[in-house]
Amino acid sequence: MKSALVILRNLQIAVQRSQQKTFDQILFCPIYHSPVQEAHCRKLWSSLQIEIPAAQWVSADQLPPLLKDCTEIEVAGWDCSEERQLFKGLNLDLQFLPQNRLYQSWDVTGVTSFTQFRKDIEKFIKKNPIEDGIAPYETAVNNHLHSYFYQKHLAKTYFETRNGLLHPDDSTGLSAHLSWGTLDVRYLWNYILDYEKAHGSNKSTYWIRFELLWREFFHHIGDSMQDLLFSRNGLKGPSDFTPPDPPDGALATFVKEPLMKAAWRQLSETGFLSNRMRQWFASHWIFADNLDWLFGAQLFEQNLIDYDVYSNYGNWQYIAGVGYDPRGGREFNLKKQLEMYDPQGAYLKHWS
Ligand SMILES: Cc1cc2nc3c(=O)[nH]c(=O)nc-3n(C[C@H](O)[C@H](O)[C@H](O)COP(=O)(O)OP(=O)(O)OC[C@H]3O[C@@H](n4cnc5c(N)ncnc54)[C@H](O)[C@@H]3O)c2cc1C
Repeated sequence: MKSALVILRNLQIAVQRSQQKTFDQILFCPIYHSPVQEAHCRKLWSSLQIEIPAAQWVSADQLPPLLKDCTEIEVAGWDCSEERQLFKGLNLDLQFLPQNRLYQSWDVTGVTSFTQFRKDIEKFIKKNPIEDGIAPYETAVNNHLHSYFYQKHLAKTYFETRNGLLHPDDSTGLSAHLSWGTLDVRYLWNYILDYEKAHGSNKSTYWIRFELLWREFFHHIGDSMQDLLFSRNGLKGPSDFTPPDPPDGALATFVKEPLMKAAWRQLSETGFLSNRMRQWFASHWIFADNLDWLFGAQLFEQNLIDYDVYSNYGNWQYIAGVGYDPRGGREFNLKKQLEMYDPQGAYLKHWS
């Protein structure tokens, strides 16, 4: 009987599991589409090698022959149809390791909005504190947390700065660590509580946890939606999975708007956009240019270094108005938004 550990995401869980058990093979098979994403994976890989010396970096097409003789296969990553494509047709019995979440599963039957979900989960957490989670293996993650919270005390002003477009200190900058599982979200949750105990809580410190509940919301509704997460109609009506618009025409239309051209440049060069810019991007894509939200979501998937299947498709569906949203879509008025969040046009100057 041969065993293999396939690491797609959730690196800390994978490292932990590899230390508990001797596998015949440990295969790191990250999925990336752009050079920026690949560079990010390679950086992760070099830190991972310290923890799992026997692991090999493999591409998706190398997996089938390597797994052919394995009867026991554990997968650290997303348990969703997108990742399952990798193993399709191989007829393997896969065991999925835990996801990077506060709770592995949450019953969303009857949940119709984020607000309702948040209230339910906050009530539950009060009685059942979140378990500790795994402390970060990577020094870089520990340094980032220490600097953001205890050196710069940026958590104290997060609520006021979180809509900023340009400065790295405007928000926590932790999304890529959460997405790849180099930071356990349960650890982060309790880290914030500890910070609040030591330095006091305010609306800002609470709001970081509030945002983590958005992430949790999208994970659980994503689980419940299964393939409908990738359906053009989302929760509305019959599913439509036809392939998105041809890329060239859509992007060329989109970048005619200078701000969107600048956003596209930032995304393709860095693999990151602030939350506010992601919202404007999606809104402009869907409502101003009348483009297919599924193709927009795919563009993000292919470029974001913090790509998270649930948060990405969940947010796009939310803005398109085909997900769990009682208001039915979010169209942003760019002119007004810019007056509020970037009156001097600093973003455009920086990225055009
Ligand atoms: C169209 C669209 C697509 C998105 N795609 C992704 C994605 O693929 N991966 C991803 O991690 N986030 C995604 N987000 C959510 C959000 O934009 C990023 O998590 C955030 O900008 C990352 O920066 P940060 O870590 O500094 O966030 P902070 O503002 O510091 O927030 C702390 C953490 O809370 C979570 N969070 C914050 N806002 C959201 C949100 N709206 N939905 C879900 N989780 C949230 C993230 O884990 C984030 O790291 C998307 C948002 C939109 C509007």
